[in-house]
Amino acid sequence: MSTTVQTLGMLEGYYCDRCGAHAFYMTALHREGELFWCAHHYKQYATALEPVTEYTADESHRLHAGITDDKHVN
Ligand SMILES: [Zn+2]
Repeated sequence: MSTTVQTLGMLEGYYCDRCGAHAFYMTALHREGELFWCAHHYKQYATALEPVTEYTADESHRLHAGITDDKHVN
């Protein structure tokens, strides 16, 4: 079983490997590094990823908080 960790800001500046949208999930794989996902594609691939995932970073709470791609805090 993989674990899911809530992170904040870790995925800023990363984009979905599939479509280039802002990444809200990152899956760290047992063997092959990391994959970044938008919410849409993470949901699409989550079941397939589960057996090969070490852990998942979840920042989907930023979606719900209304934080958008073009709002940067520096
Ligand atoms: Zn995507």
